[in-house]
Amino acid sequence: MGLSEVSELCYKITESYLKLNHETSIIIETQNAIRLTRHYLLDDIFTRWSPINGEISFSYNGGKDCQVLLLLYLSCLWEFFIVNAKRSQFEAKYQKFPMEQLPTVFIDQDETFTTLENFILETSKRYNLSLYESKKEVGRNQSMADAFRDFLKIYPETKAIAIGVRSTDPYGELLKPIQKTDSNWPNFTRLQPLLHWKLANIWSFLLFSNEPICALYVHGFTSIGGIKNTIPNPYLAVQNKENKENKAPKLYFEWEIKNSFNNGESPTNKRIGTSVSYLDKADEKISIGLGQTKFFPGWYLIDDALERAGRLKK
Ligand code: ATP
Repeated sequence: MGLSEVSELCYKITESYLKLNHETSIIIETQNAIRLTRHYLLDDIFTRWSPINGEISFSYNGGKDCQVLLLLYLSCLWEFFIVNAKRSQFEAKYQKFPMEQLPTVFIDQDETFTTLENFILETSKRYNLSLYESKKEVGRNQSMADAFRDFLKIYPETKAIAIGVRSTDPYGELLKPIQKTDSNWPNFTRLQPLLHWKLANIWSFLLFSNEPICALYVHGFTSIGGIKNTIPNPYLAVQNKENKENKAPKLYFEWEIKNSFNNGESPTNKRIGTSVSYLDKADEKISIGLGQTKFFPGWYLIDDALERAGRLKK
């Protein structure tokens, strides 16, 4: 799949989700969240910065939030192309999609899980990302601001960067969808069209999309930081059988998983279990992190306040 095809796929996924009339409150809330993100991207962002000439870059670290934003961003890129193509005197089918790769930036700041590194590489291919990756030995010894300063030296045409941050993230509460960087940061505009998304919205859309997700989430991670300071979420630990109090957490997304998007193909390629992302051998011991404890998958947790319980203090 080229960027054109994968953007069209993301558009179809998004449209299918918006048409769902299986009315759980999470799905309705997520549909509204998608509408608002689409509005930010199409009406406020793509009208101010061109998404096709390198003015906008996308910050990507393989995490679930930036993956959701990436799916929606590509979906809007497809819409942007179709709308402009329709305005032209030539029929849309005779027009070439205006880009081949999406400018993307990954700052390799902490020592990361091999599984996550593999996932970033696999998804860079899948979504046609032209990934700028900060050099390990440099990125790990400098601040995020300095790492972005280096990035901008190489890509000075960048005016704005899309970021998958949410209001419930640390320091996320006061952020705005479009805002300039702080004075101690290099100068660019932060595009944050996912602020209003709750954890439950992220999982509902991602599980429905049937897109591969990082295998660490399958093994109980709910937010992924560096290898030395992230463990599976303790609230998802499967208690041992002797424990009479043992209660499995509720799965809120059974419907999304059963009815996930399959692009008209049959039978559905059930992503969970057949994900292109697998747990790397180097990370296997981490999957049973706390002694021999096993964990429910990350999507069994929807309480935003507990999302980072597996992120240890540095
Ligand atoms: P998760 O919380 O499950 O790890 P996530 O990584 O997408 O998901 P955050 O860790 O909250 O979410 O980060 C917020 C956003 O900041 C990301 O979606 C991404 O756009 C950006 N970001 C964070 N770390 C990096 C990084 N090292 N390189 C590039 N972008 C990053």
